[in-house]
Amino acid sequence: MSARSALAALFVSAGCAPTEAAPAKPPPIAARSPVEAPAPAPVATAPPAEAPAAAPPPRDPGQANLDPDDDQVVGPPEAIADCEVRLTAAGVRFRAGALPVKATAGGTCGAPQAVIYEAGPSGIAWNAAPVVTCSLALGLARFEGVLQAEAEKHLGARVVRIRQGGTYSCRRMARFRLASEHSYGNAIDLHAFELSDHRWISVKSHFGDPSGEPETPESRFLRSVARRAFAEDVFSVVLTPFWDKLHADHFHLDQARYRVGAVGPASSR
Ligand SMILES: [Zn+2]
Repeated sequence: MSARSALAALFVSAGCAPTEAAPAKPPPIAARSPVEAPAPAPVATAPPAEAPAAAPPPRDPGQANLDPDDDQVVGPPEAIADCEVRLTAAGVRFRAGALPVKATAGGTCGAPQAVIYEAGPSGIAWNAAPVVTCSLALGLARFEGVLQAEAEKHLGARVVRIRQGGTYSCRRMARFRLASEHSYGNAIDLHAFELSDHRWISVKSHFGDPSGEPETPESRFLRSVARRAFAEDVFSVVLTPFWDKLHADHFHLDQARYRVGAVGPASSR
């Protein structure tokens, strides 16, 4: 078993205090296939050149961590040197935040860099402006594009407000040695979305039975949003009601160094 698989298995086995049996297989790893070494050009007389070692995929700090080699690194995410430039380019209105780094009995909490995400490129409002790492803020900016596209497709409206349930919380994952990404402000829980026609779409009320197919436009909207957020590398980790009963009423999104996507029935993972 690879280190990645081992970590994923550990995450699955303990998770956020799961209450259901762990899936038999680790979750899908999207966009993680190793870069293929280019085939050497045919040479008539010389033996084939040795293919160069596969390079890790480039790391974009504003998206899911695609580097499999740091999956087991535990600690706050590193600061992003050009954070403000990136956020401004992404259309984010923000203020400097603070999540002081501190050592606790359970590990380190806080992050060397934090921002208060006031509004993103499509102007979605929040019940409370989230205080997050720069990487998560950049992910939220991209996530707005996914939200708006899926809301218009399935519901004929736009998202105007998000009800979030928290970002920073200095704690470990329940029954697990790893720190939760909430310990670093590198995770956010989303509960509901208000549309431009004043409807509220909540994970709790509209996701539908995760063991069944989506039966309403609202359910299709929520499931499509989650699926794209993971498949398009917007976030490293996307947990939904597909994960366990503790996530029956919200989406957990984070920018961990490892990847876990619970965006479909366990049988498809
Ligand atoms: Zn969470």
